Amino acid sequence: MFIVHDIESLQNKLLELAQSDKRIALVPTMGALHAGHLSLITAAKELADAVVVSIFVNPTQFGKNEDFSIYPRTLEADIQIAEAAGAEIIYEPTLEDMYPSGFSTTITAGKISTILCGKSRPGHFDGVATVVTKLLLRTMPHIAVFGMKDYQQLCIIDKVSRDLDIPTVIIAAPTVREEDGLALSSRNRYLSEDERKIAPQLYLTLKQVAEKLKDNSGCEAAAIITEAVTHLTSQGFVVEYLELCDSDTLDSIPELKENARLLVAARLGKTRLIDNIEV
Ligand code: AMP
Repeated sequence: MFIVHDIESLQNKLLELAQSDKRIALVPTMGALHAGHLSLITAAKELADAVVVSIFVNPTQFGKNEDFSIYPRTLEADIQIAEAAGAEIIYEPTLEDMYPSGFSTTITAGKISTILCGKSRPGHFDGVATVVTKLLLRTMPHIAVFGMKDYQQLCIIDKVSRDLDIPTVIIAAPTVREEDGLALSSRNRYLSEDERKIAPQLYLTLKQVAEKLKDNSGCEAAAIITEAVTHLTSQGFVVEYLELCDSDTLDSIPELKENARLLVAARLGKTRLIDNIEV
């Protein structure tokens, strides 16, 4: 496995792979790799000959009062995990390599970036769209794999790559969960012991809401959702949103229909958790 830190070394390696006709997959991450990331690398390996894992804690997707400075950075362990999973290249760019002095362009996907998580994290998805577009253009992979855990991010990346005619096929990989249902996340390590016990309620509540929506099809979703928010609040969550949405546009929908998804974001103490399920 090769570890590279700049675009030139990355592209030299990619050229070698291209000369032997290898199909390239990209798995963008912010590091602190866990079994969720591992599942993306495994899925990528099945669809391509060589997997590039990028590791970059992208400052432009963090708000002023967010956790950029304390975000877990575990490069040594990440290298071992990626290598064991069969990655061919780890691309861990420096800040200067990604954003050379004078860099000033932003990619923005429009309305879909301003709803749900975009409301409480203004500019977040522009930071994501910009860095992922750069990673796609730098790597020019045949496929790139993203987790459904970050469903809004996945939709935005899919939209940006279609809107900008980026030829990479965007692949969605299912959410990997702990046994008790909590979606794996690098941020779960912020949870205290007590919070960790409560955290699975987020997924369990989503599942209950989905069941109720299906049992009461044709009814307004609002009452069921309000009841779920009250339950989560009583457990100690501060709910940012819990919405029934169209799976493609992520527009809020008033009642269950085909192609619907429930998305939630809530704070538990200092930790912000997100999750989503198909209904
Ligand atoms: P991150 O390092 O958090 O930026 O995530 C990098 C990639 O891993 C994104 O495509 C995420 O959606 C994906 N990912 C994170 N957690 C999970 C999970 N629990 N299951 C599947 N994919 C995940």
